[in-house]
Amino acid sequence: MLPDQLKPLAAVRQSTRIPNRFRCRAEIIDHRPSFLEDFCRPFCSMCNESCPPRPEPRCPSCNLELDRNAQYIYMFSVLLDDGRDQLEVVLHGPDAEAFLDIPACNLYKDVTQRERLRMKLLGLVGTRIECQVESYRAFHEAKRFRLIA
Ligand SMILES: [Zn+2]
Repeated sequence: MLPDQLKPLAAVRQSTRIPNRFRCRAEIIDHRPSFLEDFCRPFCSMCNESCPPRPEPRCPSCNLELDRNAQYIYMFSVLLDDGRDQLEVVLHGPDAEAFLDIPACNLYKDVTQRERLRMKLLGLVGTRIECQVESYRAFHEAKRFRLIA
């Protein structure tokens, strides 16, 4: 069920029920990592983990040549600001692809998609968006937030 009431980021941050979904309106003011090349990570299916992005990536654990064998997955975050509070929200996997409308790939190599991403972010940073945010727990960490499509 989709929430229909807009929530201030402060209320999202302070909510104690996890997972929970919120509808927010806020400006994207920054992104992490800063380099677009690092927005997509290769995923080693042998080790079941994502690896550092590189022009010719190899899995640090099993040394598998990843470009031919890996699936690429978006993994980045944006900083939202609603004028009263800020919240870092993660964009991951298919939700990130749907949000950007750009397929995940090796952004070190694929200049065309990297330029598309650069133009997309130029349009997004500084823009007020309405989005769905979900709170979740990642491993042993405290609660985090992700943007869902
Ligand atoms: Zn591996």
